[in-house]
Amino acid sequence: MRDYFVLGAFLYFCCSFSVQAGEYDVLRHKMVEEVLADVAAEVSYSGGSTLHSDVVAAMQKVERHLFVPASQTSNAYLNRPLPIGYGQTISQPLIVAMMTDLMQVKDGDKILEIGTGSGYQAAILAEIAKSVYSIEIIRPLGKQAAKRLKSLGYNNVEVRVGDGYYGWPEASPFDAIIVTAAASHVPPPLLKQLKPGGRMLIPLGMHFMTQYLMLVEKQMDGSVISRQILPVRFVPFTREH
Ligand code: SAH
Repeated sequence: MRDYFVLGAFLYFCCSFSVQAGEYDVLRHKMVEEVLADVAAEVSYSGGSTLHSDVVAAMQKVERHLFVPASQTSNAYLNRPLPIGYGQTISQPLIVAMMTDLMQVKDGDKILEIGTGSGYQAAILAEIAKSVYSIEIIRPLGKQAAKRLKSLGYNNVEVRVGDGYYGWPEASPFDAIIVTAAASHVPPPLLKQLKPGGRMLIPLGMHFMTQYLMLVEKQMDGSVISRQILPVRFVPFTREH
C-alpha cells in the first residue's frame, strides 16, 4: 500500500513538473509569435518584415522565466518589460528581438553589452555570437546575472560590474555594441571600441522624454552614420561618481 502511495506521489510530481515545464514552452512559443507579428507591423521602422532565423531560434530557446524575480515568473512570457529590482527592468521581448536583429550578429562575433540587468539580452546574444562582454553598474544585479548565466551554461559571456561608459578596452574591438539604458549621447570610448564596419544600437534621449533607438554604423574609413530607428522607453544610463 505504502509503495503505491510513494509511486503515486512520484508520478504526480513528475506529471505536474512536466506540465509546468511544457506550459512555459507553449507560452514562450506564443510570445515569439506575438513578437513576429509586431515586427511585421513595425516594418516602417525596422526596414524588414521579419527577424533573422537565428534571432527567432534564440528567442524560442532562452527561458525568460529564469531571468525574472519569482514574483514575475507568471508574467515572464508577456511581451512587456518587467521589474527586476533596484528600479531596473528586463527589456520587452520585442525590443530585445529587434535590437538583436539590427545588430546583424554572426556566429564568430564578439559583442559588448552595456546594461546587463537580468542577463536575458546577453543570453540571447550568446546563443548567436562567439562571445559576449557585458557591463552592469549595479553590483548586486551584475553579480546575480553573472551567476545565473554561468549556471545556465553560458561560458561565452563575461560580466563585469562598473560604469559601461568606458567600455571594455582590453577586450576591444567589438563587432557590435548594444546599450540597453538611455544615454544623452554616444559615449566616445564605445565608438572607439567598435570595429570599422561594426554596428552599435543605443537608445538616446532623456528620462521621461521621447527617446529614440539609434543605429550607429562605423564605416570602414572610420566615419560614422547614425539613423533613428524607433521611439523607445529605457531606464536611464547612469554614471559612477
Ligand atoms: N539588458 C538588460 C536590460 C537591463 S535595464 C536585460 O536584458 O535584462 C538597463 C540596465 O543598465 C540596468 O540594469 C542599469 O543598472 C544598467 N546601467 C545603467 N547605466 C549603466 C552604466 N553606465 N554602465 C553599466 N550599466 C548601466
